[in-house]
Amino acid sequence: MTRVCDAADVLLVTTIIPTPVGNYELKSCHEGIHSLQPVNITEKNFNPNLSIDIKENTCNSQTTEPIDAKQKLPIIQCLNWLQTYFKNPNDIQKVPVPMICFKTRATDFEKNVWLTLTETTEAGKAITYAELANRCGHQKASRAVGTAMKKNPIPLIIPCHRVIRSDGSHGNYSTCNPMKGWLLSHESKQKKSEEEIDMLDAPEM
Ligand SMILES: [Zn+2]
Repeated sequence: MTRVCDAADVLLVTTIIPTPVGNYELKSCHEGIHSLQPVNITEKNFNPNLSIDIKENTCNSQTTEPIDAKQKLPIIQCLNWLQTYFKNPNDIQKVPVPMICFKTRATDFEKNVWLTLTETTEAGKAITYAELANRCGHQKASRAVGTAMKKNPIPLIIPCHRVIRSDGSHGNYSTCNPMKGWLLSHESKQKKSEEEIDMLDAPEM
């Protein structure tokens, strides 16, 4: 199962992470995450369970060699990020985005789209393909932006589920379509309950 990172002569570690929306397979080297991909999550078996905790001891790293602290760091960052994302999505902006090792596996355009999306969208707020193209400095590239979304190696963390069509429909999500709606509503539900608490706390006039 052990492969070498294509960016350098270093170990690539595969870790299986059970999450509230199903199992994900994380691949990472000491420089960061290569990919985080769903394992057999389909429309038929999609059955979210928010009581699942994401902790180091619930995950399984597969490697033929022992992992050192440097190789462990992106894995721990990813687990912390996912745990906060599912438990308290309102706080996700406060958690550092895990280290990412893109290197040679993507074009500059794709990296620009992925990073712009990650840096300029907030949990619970959807944007359109056209708006994302605009933010990337390529007004007319909504179609190419859509293709970059399809090739997203790190869904959830690079939040392609927040990109929707101009008519407000969700469009396709490669993991399984119901998950896109579930993720958006998971993020905005939390936002709403925070706003409600603010209203309750507001002094009466
Ligand atoms: Zn790497």
